[in-house]
Amino acid sequence: MVVVMEEMAKEDQIQHVISKLIDMSFDVHRSTGVNQTVLGAIGDKRGLDTGILELLPGVHKVVRITEAFKLASRTFHPQDTVIKIRNVTIGGDDLVMMAGPCSVEAQNQISEIAQMVRTAGATVLRGGAFKPRTSPYSFQGLGEDGLTYLREAANKHDMVCVSEVMESSQIPLLTEYVDVLQVGARNMQNFSLLRELGKIRKPVLLKRGMAATIEEMLMAAEYIMAGGNYDVILCERGIRTFENYTRNTLDISAIPVVKKLSHLPIIADPSHATGRRDKVPPMARAAIAAGADGLIVEVHQDPEKALSDGAQSLYPEQFEHLMGELRIIAKAVSKKW
Ligand code: PEP
Ligand code: MN
Repeated sequence: MVVVMEEMAKEDQIQHVISKLIDMSFDVHRSTGVNQTVLGAIGDKRGLDTGILELLPGVHKVVRITEAFKLASRTFHPQDTVIKIRNVTIGGDDLVMMAGPCSVEAQNQISEIAQMVRTAGATVLRGGAFKPRTSPYSFQGLGEDGLTYLREAANKHDMVCVSEVMESSQIPLLTEYVDVLQVGARNMQNFSLLRELGKIRKPVLLKRGMAATIEEMLMAAEYIMAGGNYDVILCERGIRTFENYTRNTLDISAIPVVKKLSHLPIIADPSHATGRRDKVPPMARAAIAAGADGLIVEVHQDPEKALSDGAQSLYPEQFEHLMGELRIIAKAVSKKW
């Protein structure tokens, strides 16, 4: 349930409503906008007479939310969530470009790529140090060394960095090195991991599970937010369908659907969605045109030799060319970067 306060509601009126809700055993999350305060009341109280709350001084209206997610819902938080990490803004009118290799492979590899993608316009450096590989015999990532190289490269090129956390025990290590913790598609419904990420105060990049509905993705975000971490960035990275020409099927329509349902930023990953380098630029363009808040793209200086996901990694020149095209589309959809 959401309690929308009047524009002129006084602080003591807001506090009174909050204590009433707590007395009724609700968990209260407050959202203070420019003009109005909105209180999200979490708790299963189907039989409650909302009239009691509607009559409290300062209350504008009480809305029962039918969606299973509340904190992630736009009803609770009508304005876009905007996440700021140093000089990088994610959400709202800004576009964010995240780029880098699938895996951090060596110190000079990540540093070189960082320089290339930064020059082309990316501000967030990606690179996996713990890799969720289908085969246990494939390259599993460099672990902490990889995180060290990623951090060094990001600092050197004035970038923010993101890397995947595969299990709860890795959270302290990841938090030490990276600015954004990524939850991979295979872990989108790892609820104990999501709960632990709710306790930290760093943004989480939550990738859509390959067989997850939009509602399931928003519920996964809700797990993180219920712990008090509201900085969640959603990522449409393709879902598994009967089509097997591409690695997955990029669900472009998920972008406007999520935009309507939720205030959280949503970016797209055209690399894992298509699995093929030649299909990455058209899908990247389509995602921005559809209203995505940014992209995460795999780029490698020598994709044929990449230790993971070489076939979907762009050559640096391709990435640079794509960024030029996206600047034109960004203008057309009133986004800036
Ligand atoms: C990745 O970003 O490297 C990755 C493994 O992505 P996903 O979890 O979307 O497959
Ligand atoms: Mn990859």
